[in-house]
Amino acid sequence: MRDPRFDPLFEPIKIGPVTAPNRFYQVPHCSGMGYQRPQMMAAMRGVKAEGGWGVVCTEYCSIHPSSDDMPFPHASLWGDDDVRNLRLMTDAVHEHGALAGVELWYAGHRAANMYSRELAFSVDSLPNTALVGMPVQSQAMTRADIGTYRAWHNAAAKRAVDAGFDIVYVYANHGYLLNDFLSPSLNTRCDEYGGAAINRVRLVREIIEQTLETVGHRCAVAVRYSVPAEIESDPDELFEMFETIAELPDLWDITVTDYKLEMGSSRFVKEASNQAAVAKIKSLTTKPVVSVGRFTSPDTMLSQIKKGIQDFIGAARPSIADPFLPSKIDQGRIDDIRECIGCNICYAYDTLGSPIRCTQNPTMGEEWRRGWHPDRVPPKHADETVLVIGSGPAGLEAACTLGHRGYSVILAEADTELGGRINSESRLPGLSEWARVRDWRLGQIAKLSNIEVYPDNHLDAPAVLELGMQHVIIATGAKWRSDGVGRWRSTAFEGWDLPNVISVDQILSGHVPEASVVIFDDDHYYMASAIALKLRAEGIDVTLVTPQGRAGGWSYYTQEQHQTLKAMYDAGIEIVTDRGLTYFKPNNIGLECVFSGSESDIAAAYLIPVTARIPSAELWFELESRAETFHANGGLTIQRIGDCAAPGIIASAVYAGHKAARELGLDIKDQLEIKQDRVVVNTT
Ligand code: ADP
Ligand code: SF4
Repeated sequence: MRDPRFDPLFEPIKIGPVTAPNRFYQVPHCSGMGYQRPQMMAAMRGVKAEGGWGVVCTEYCSIHPSSDDMPFPHASLWGDDDVRNLRLMTDAVHEHGALAGVELWYAGHRAANMYSRELAFSVDSLPNTALVGMPVQSQAMTRADIGTYRAWHNAAAKRAVDAGFDIVYVYANHGYLLNDFLSPSLNTRCDEYGGAAINRVRLVREIIEQTLETVGHRCAVAVRYSVPAEIESDPDELFEMFETIAELPDLWDITVTDYKLEMGSSRFVKEASNQAAVAKIKSLTTKPVVSVGRFTSPDTMLSQIKKGIQDFIGAARPSIADPFLPSKIDQGRIDDIRECIGCNICYAYDTLGSPIRCTQNPTMGEEWRRGWHPDRVPPKHADETVLVIGSGPAGLEAACTLGHRGYSVILAEADTELGGRINSESRLPGLSEWARVRDWRLGQIAKLSNIEVYPDNHLDAPAVLELGMQHVIIATGAKWRSDGVGRWRSTAFEGWDLPNVISVDQILSGHVPEASVVIFDDDHYYMASAIALKLRAEGIDVTLVTPQGRAGGWSYYTQEQHQTLKAMYDAGIEIVTDRGLTYFKPNNIGLECVFSGSESDIAAAYLIPVTARIPSAELWFELESRAETFHANGGLTIQRIGDCAAPGIIASAVYAGHKAARELGLDIKDQLEIKQDRVVVNTT
């Protein structure tokens, strides 16, 4: 039952001609699905509506082939086929009483148009910025081109109505075409669309007005618009331009101009960090306002509405981590909310051109192709017992999902504390929210009487056989290697076994080197920089060496690279790029230029290689070799999952745990079956 305190979150509200059933608003967010995977997209958005989101929007939806973002999947409304495909989504959303919104998108100079090969219209002829160093520029729009663009936008808005949308967006931020018109630095036009602020906002106003005229009788018109996060005493021109159009649309979807703040990972940006800018906008318009802030706490959500900072709780990531967040508040199941940890893995996979996934929600993206529901699992297939060994993200998720399915589960953990890698990693600087991966699952396990938990229990093969469980799931994790083998080196470096070569695991378990350190980062994600910042904060001189041209290469995808590098430079950490590791000698570390092969060295007392991990799979191999005894004793299946099968990101371990638990009892044919959302050529 709902706590009446939260009633304001469930009050319907009018947006132009339509009414949202509550205040939970899934703003447009990338899914890596778009026009390429319309069934996956429809099912994923439909599940959010089922989970109580009152408004559910598409990702960016191209209005014309001259705005194509290949290789990144986006939606499109180029023609009737798109209308039919997007109908799948609007039907799925409407089935649960929610409103469906579409974000009409024209990229401008940020479109490389690699699929369509059309030239991109833009405010000026500007270099493409969607892909690193893409050697193409856009075409400066003439007045006639502006007319053509307006016609494309209008045609797409009409198709949006045909597809069943209730909210049609004018997309005026994120560095796309309309945003470029607003920009004083990019818009240097001498016609009525350039120069003074009132001219630069003209095209946005025209597009809002024409969209209202074309679809306003049936759909609400929303505008996505950005303002600076910091409110200066001398107001930014973006506020000035806003005031001239403040009363035009039916809804304002507000973000901040610095995307690193809007989409910041929890490592650098905390919940509700943009409220000042949103509150300022709210004071300048009578129209409803929505904004994001990675809201996961119902109390914070409530205060946003009660304080009048905004009218809706905008969410992308919290709705990905828990599509049933609104329902859980409604049903008084606050403890069951699976809070987003702000790791940005969802964003990373879209940026890599693939369907999004989520660290906390292993069912994200699997709603259609595997039929996985985020809040329901199939009941157990038989009264069977399962032993899960290891309580990292893989083991915890497996145990928890098996428990929900109704199996009798034993979860054994060698350590005193449950959580595996989460325990030490969430203690690294900025990563405290990652503990939610452990805590949510422990909370669920505590509610399930069919799961017995045994910490301080290091199991070996005889102990497992003695327990006589029917299924054994081994989730014993992995250990960091200290021999430097990884992407750049395939053999150990000279001196790898000397005492002052320290492993990542030693650092994670609290070991602090006594003098200067070189960290060799051939992992390229968060671990090397997190350790560097931790040791630097403890007063140690740190140099980070990487064979790549820029440190933290993979954290580019999670939108963290910039802030990570800034944090390291600000902390006084030296960064050496394009260098591989060759040897370690006391106070002397050998490096090699990855291009020229020229050799150099650095004086440092300690070396920490951050390169790769070795699966801790001894128990798995031991049990495999005794499989006959296991089966003779009534054992049915043994499997290894997570890092002990293939070390990877936490999201992969959670997914592996969920998959193993969900598929227990399915025959192998069904386990391998995965529906493909792709064009099928009909030859008849
Ligand atoms: P994953 O990311 O795959 O879940 P983790 O490294 O986070 O892996 O967790 C593995 C867990 O397994 C650790 O908590 C570790 O203590 C535990 N573990 C490893 N070997 C055994 C064992 N033989 N018996 C019980 N627990 C074990
Ligand atoms: Fe949140 Fe990480 Fe899931 Fe994205 S992947 S929704 S940031 S938990």
